[in-house]
Amino acid sequence: MDETLIFAIRECYQRVLSQIDEATARSGRDAGSVRLVVVTKSQPLEVVQAAIAAGASILGENYAEEAVAKINALAETAVEWHMIGHVQSRKADLVAGHFSMLHSLDSLKLAERLNRYCEELGRSLQVLLEINVSGEESKYGFPGWDEQHWPNLEPEIGHITALPRLRLRGLMTMPPFFDDPEQTRPYFQRLHRLQVFLREHIPYADWTDLSMGTSADFITAIEEGATYVRVGQAILGRRSA
Ligand SMILES: *Cc1c(COP(=O)(O)O)cnc(C)c1O
Repeated sequence: MDETLIFAIRECYQRVLSQIDEATARSGRDAGSVRLVVVTKSQPLEVVQAAIAAGASILGENYAEEAVAKINALAETAVEWHMIGHVQSRKADLVAGHFSMLHSLDSLKLAERLNRYCEELGRSLQVLLEINVSGEESKYGFPGWDEQHWPNLEPEIGHITALPRLRLRGLMTMPPFFDDPEQTRPYFQRLHRLQVFLREHIPYADWTDLSMGTSADFITAIEEGATYVRVGQAILGRRSA
């Protein structure tokens, strides 16, 4: 293994962890209440191995096939794999079979498919509902930008909570990108308000987790209640295109 690479990644990983700890403490939140997903999408296997050697314990991937190749190659390693990207329905079997959590559940149809594959495999899958909090057309997710329309989400979410193999844990979002993380704050606040709304309107479900914040804005996301942050480039450097 490339010791120089491991050393470089460990340094960035530790720095991000201490920034997380500081932001958690500063926000008056419990130590350990924010977990770090190291985003390894588009990174070669050597980099993923080095990230694990540097201490990463939860890895996030966006593309099912790329991820499954890595998961199989690293089958001996005890890490948690989280799917954070859009999943096409026809890839649902790969996700049901290989991941412990899906952050980006964005339709009832996908939920039903995942549930069926999990049933066949005798597994269960933790899921977060991806919410489009900005209204950008390029974004996946349940429509959440117009707060007046939140009650319309209840029937579909109600169906998802009834799928026995899916363990709903909360919400995820990917806001628009800004150079200044302050501009992202209102979108994180909106996701947090939706969590409060769903706690009130669908109280039997578990709304504990908020997955929000990337390299650009994870500190702001923690201030606004993130329990998972998804950080790639700040730890692993630039991705190859
Ligand atoms: C790529 C990606 C991230 C990580 O972005 P970085 O800029 O590498 O920190 C987080 N979440 C999602 C959904 C992503 O696609």
